[in-house]
Amino acid sequence: MDIELFMCRTDNYGVLIRDPVTGLVAAIDAPDVAPIEAALTKRGWKLDIILVTHKHFDHVEGIAPLVAKYGAKVIAPVLAKAEVPNADRYVDEGDTVDVGLLRADVWATPGHCVDHISYHFAREQVIFVGDVLFVMGCGRVLDSTAAALHQSVQRIATLPDATQIYCGHEYTLSNAKFCAHIEPDNPAIAMRLKAVEAMRSAGQFTVPTTLGAEKSTNVFIRAKDAAEFAARREAKNTF
Ligand code: FE
Ligand code: ZN
Repeated sequence: MDIELFMCRTDNYGVLIRDPVTGLVAAIDAPDVAPIEAALTKRGWKLDIILVTHKHFDHVEGIAPLVAKYGAKVIAPVLAKAEVPNADRYVDEGDTVDVGLLRADVWATPGHCVDHISYHFAREQVIFVGDVLFVMGCGRVLDSTAAALHQSVQRIATLPDATQIYCGHEYTLSNAKFCAHIEPDNPAIAMRLKAVEAMRSAGQFTVPTTLGAEKSTNVFIRAKDAAEFAARREAKNTF
């Protein structure tokens, strides 16, 4: 799988993936138009498919203009029909999505919002989690519950440690500081906070992460139960 990662808006990640055999290209979400066009031009790709993770405007705003320009097919969560009214296909838990010869399993991963889905490319060991899980963090609970988000995060945590995780925003510095506040004696978190500070001062992306790295440093994955997870999520909102 060829992957092109770039910034959109202020802190959204844009991602393009390409099947090297067929040359088919998909965007994960459409946060914005110009940066996606620029990334396509840079690689000499055209856009065939848009895989939507959830209904929020900063993930869907570029859909209509990109469809108009490239004729891309839109695949969206079944519970996001109102916000993504003209998708070519609506998908849910258990569905599979093909990008050429690349195949993703669709996971229902509610918690940040009710409609949220993730795209797991098992053979490539890559998962696109939108705003469910962030590097050293997780999404806010909006129109769903902390219990649902906890379940979604715990499910992602069952994947192999080498799994590459692509998330929807660059929130890592703030997340790393929160993790260090929750687990001040965790040396893996302290080391990663230092590394993240250096990466961000150098303007580097902290995405993708791996599940292994998250298991040792992400206090939301590390929460011992749903209650501790919910308390940490609450605490992060005012940190
Ligand atoms: Fe969101
Ligand atoms: Zn978002």
